[in-house]
Amino acid sequence: MWETKTLFRIALLTVFLMAGNSVWAQRTGSAGGGPRLYESRTFQIYTDLSEVDARELLKDLETMIELVSKYFGHPCRKRIQMFVVEDLSRWSPEERGKMLPEGLTSIQGGAGLTVTRVQQYVGGPKIDADAVVFAVSKHQTPMHEAIHAYCGLTFGSTGPVWYSEGMAEVGKYFQAGEKGVNAPPYVIEYLKSEEPKPLDDIVNNPLERTGDSWQNYAWRWVLCHLLGYNENYSQRFKPLGLAMMAGNNTGFNNAYGTQFREIEFEYQLFLQDLEPGYRADLCGWDWKTRFRPLVGAAQLACKVDAQRGWQASRAKCVAGEQYVVSATGEWSTGPDSSEGNGQLVGIIFQDYVLGEPFPIPDGEPFTAPSDGQLYLRCQDDWGKLTDNQGSKTVRIKLAK
Ligand SMILES: [Zn+2]
Repeated sequence: MWETKTLFRIALLTVFLMAGNSVWAQRTGSAGGGPRLYESRTFQIYTDLSEVDARELLKDLETMIELVSKYFGHPCRKRIQMFVVEDLSRWSPEERGKMLPEGLTSIQGGAGLTVTRVQQYVGGPKIDADAVVFAVSKHQTPMHEAIHAYCGLTFGSTGPVWYSEGMAEVGKYFQAGEKGVNAPPYVIEYLKSEEPKPLDDIVNNPLERTGDSWQNYAWRWVLCHLLGYNENYSQRFKPLGLAMMAGNNTGFNNAYGTQFREIEFEYQLFLQDLEPGYRADLCGWDWKTRFRPLVGAAQLACKVDAQRGWQASRAKCVAGEQYVVSATGEWSTGPDSSEGNGQLVGIIFQDYVLGEPFPIPDGEPFTAPSDGQLYLRCQDDWGKLTDNQGSKTVRIKLAK
């Protein structure tokens, strides 16, 4: 969660910050396992975590902030101050008193809160910002809140709820060199067990101040992950985010209104195929290639990359008609691949609806199960495309 306090009087702000500062002046913790202060380049963390865990957390946070800074093209302007609580009973009343009341309340509710204080003269521009994070140590909450703090400090706002919370979820899963889905299994299982939440409901879903569920966060994550990684949408996503955080009058519909059906289709496909390691960047749908029917002895050729999801064959099929394919080239799936993987498979797309996948034998006729555009791929588990190699050139013609 994230909230802002815009303080219109500098004098008031000074008082506010001094109250906060007293915490950071105290460098040594109490002897009985109470909270202690740990510091790194970008973070000051006041926490009752063990020293090993606290330093591990700092390392993860620094890595994440480096990745998010690179993504937005802005370094973090200031140190982020965090209260991270593993067990509140280790915090004396005096220690708890160092937190803002709303931060303590959030921690007592098992969650987190980032308070960004924006310094602004009456009627004047924003001139400075500070961010303080209050978070429980579990569920990667400190990582999530640190994204809010970075955005608040760097851009003065974190954008609308779907973006703010969705990106905080995306960010908390950031790992160097990792493009695959690495949300925890319970999140993936939940998303796959539900009817897809309508996109309009996600982008218009306000933050529920009390007990906004992790399920709502999961839906926001899905949308932001898809838009951020799928190359059909990622180019517009960053400028949209920056514009929304700058307070410009824009939003999801402005940026993606004309692509709504495409996004809706890919969103549903993403949820259907979602598993750990799924690469949204490799599975973007090809909306550009032109398809045409096969006539007489004419043939169409396309290249199918073993590492990618469904790819355009260029052939428009007719239900019941027989076709034959010849494939040249080599590809391989990874070592821990399941039986049957590596087979060329097809699927028919028609009017934003997909049929069932079917195997396509090399050199033998197959029957098109329905009318529509034929897409192809190398059969493999959706979460294991990363280690595939090679490609095939596929030629398709009528089997007459
Ligand atoms: Zn949040």
